[in-house]
Amino acid sequence: MEYHIDFSETREPVTAQPGDTVLEALLRAGVPFPHSCQVGNCGTCKCELIEGEIFELPYSEHALSEDEKAKKHVLACRAQVWGDVKVRAIDIEGISLGPIRSLRGRVISLTQLTHDIREVRLSLEAEGGALAFAAGQYAQVEFAPGISRHYSMANTPDEIDPVFHVRHVPGGRASAFVAEKLKVGHGVRVTGPYGSSYLRQHHAGPVLLVAGGSGLAPIESILRTLIPRANGAAILLYFGVRSEKDVYHETILRALAASYDKLRLNIALSEQPGRGRRNGLLHEVIAADRIDFCGYMAYLAGPPAMVDAVSGIVVQMGLEHRNLHADAFYNQP
Ligand SMILES: Cc1cc2nc3c(=O)[nH]c(=O)nc-3n(C[C@H](O)[C@H](O)[C@H](O)COP(=O)(O)OP(=O)(O)OC[C@H]3O[C@@H](n4cnc5c(N)ncnc54)[C@H](O)[C@@H]3O)c2cc1C
Repeated sequence: MEYHIDFSETREPVTAQPGDTVLEALLRAGVPFPHSCQVGNCGTCKCELIEGEIFELPYSEHALSEDEKAKKHVLACRAQVWGDVKVRAIDIEGISLGPIRSLRGRVISLTQLTHDIREVRLSLEAEGGALAFAAGQYAQVEFAPGISRHYSMANTPDEIDPVFHVRHVPGGRASAFVAEKLKVGHGVRVTGPYGSSYLRQHHAGPVLLVAGGSGLAPIESILRTLIPRANGAAILLYFGVRSEKDVYHETILRALAASYDKLRLNIALSEQPGRGRRNGLLHEVIAADRIDFCGYMAYLAGPPAMVDAVSGIVVQMGLEHRNLHADAFYNQP
């Protein structure tokens, strides 16, 4: 027995096996459907259920607002198919991205950015051209057989060599490999791009960027892509880390702020007060600024707890849910 998913962006219906999620079936059919955590936390894979019945697996309360649920929006990663269904993409810009490619490459440099974050720069053997992606997207990077995880591109789409910021997670397999064993010249495989938390080119208004730790990677890519075309729009950047020793790329960020006077840079330390620094968790620091985020486009990246807390507060401060784009760095062993 198989079912069909009539999807607004594909000419032919996509085949699904009983119990597949809409996301599983679409990805298997090669549709570059925006997704991230795949476990109902991030909300990246929202779509609209037009027809048919689905069974919804549990998901985080932050992933869909009450308003979205009322509009029959569902999470493709949580919507199990037990019959024919018809779904529509909400974020068309997201679907037109891709195609997803898998490219072999080599490590060309390794730079220690902090005590636990390493910058990994790759050169890819790209027969069909460099990896095409939008600022803010990520790829699956295989550092050794069976050791592959998602990492966000820190370079801009017009810079050919992919750059990643990999934080060493205590007890983590892939990040320990990067911290301890990865060497220049090492072979890797990069598959992507993935993710829908990428820079929306059509938005001409103010932008909020929020990065926690190595979440600065996609945020820096978005920021450096955005500035040349921001046209006087305000950009607010909040970069949160635990303590002074975790701050990195400050010189780059300050130079960007000096080149674009509408960029306001806030670096916040959560655990230890620092001279000239904001103090507190990012959602507290942002709340203290009492900004009306109506009309803003927001991009968040970093630890799930930060992304959850900041998402909640910025929506309370006027940000429209549909203008919130987030990549939570969930561990996916
Ligand atoms: C969309 C996305 C983008 C990302 N981008 C970045 C990025 O740019 N930079 C970055 O640094 N990270 C990023 N991440 C996170 C990254 O993908 C990895 O999750 C992270 O590097 C940890 O991987 P690991 O293999 O080192 O840890 P894992 O081996 O996956 O382990 C993670 C944690 O789980 C614990 N654990 C593992 N196995 C078990 C077990 N059996 N029982 C109990 N605990 C266990 C480990 O001790 C560790 O604390 C991103 C994640 C996503 C989803």
